[in-house]
Amino acid sequence: MTKPFRWEAEALADDPFAGDFGDGEVALSNKMVTTRGGGTCHTCAGECLPGTRNRVLTERGGEGLETFRWCQSCCFAMAVYGIRPSIGDARFALGEERRAAAREAADTLNLENARG
Ligand SMILES: [Zn+2]
Repeated sequence: MTKPFRWEAEALADDPFAGDFGDGEVALSNKMVTTRGGGTCHTCAGECLPGTRNRVLTERGGEGLETFRWCQSCCFAMAVYGIRPSIGDARFALGEERRAAAREAADTLNLENARG
């Protein structure tokens, strides 16, 4: 019998900031929660839908307390990152795309406001 794949534990064990330099942040809380209020995913910049499982990480660093949230799809990607990094990389790429689109939309809005 194979060991059951505990995806939530695997997701929590993943270091989402691996490769970043950081400045001695200390993780105060790192847990899986069932989202009620929603929020924005730190990786894919998508909506965290109420009722889905999210990872929530709170750190204390140079700029005080910071809380990061990841949607369920990105949590799955974290859980399998060691064996299938392409899935996680695709989530990051999606986030880059969405952030660029949001910046563009904000710029367009600012231009329109400037014109009155
Ligand atoms: Zn996500």
